[in-house]
Amino acid sequence: MICSNCEYEYVDGVTVCADCGADLISKEEFEGSLLHPSDWVVVGTFAELYEAEMLKANLSGAGIDSLFFTKKDRNFPLSGSWETIKLLVKKKDANDALEIINDIKNRTPEENTGETTNENG
Ligand SMILES: [Zn+2]
Repeated sequence: MICSNCEYEYVDGVTVCADCGADLISKEEFEGSLLHPSDWVVVGTFAELYEAEMLKANLSGAGIDSLFFTKKDRNFPLSGSWETIKLLVKKKDANDALEIINDIKNRTPEENTGETTNENG
């Protein structure tokens, strides 16, 4: 059982999320609500929710459907406040989305210019 709000997974028998109080749904239902999960690709990860929300709004303005996941500690071996937000778009929109994301990144004045070309040889 999964909370569609927090994405926490609960054992069978639990019907309400202990965190937010939402009704839990089955894993199939959860994945079903994504339409075709495998069609979605991650185009960026963020430490702050507002960044993801800003990009989502920008993509939406460009006619690109997007969604973001907060994974909390589910994928991390460390417990605690680790939180990574993943922004996903459909595969067919990935290139357009990346262009928009890069464009926004380049426009951000306070962006660190320490970005080096990172080539894996
Ligand atoms: Zn919840």
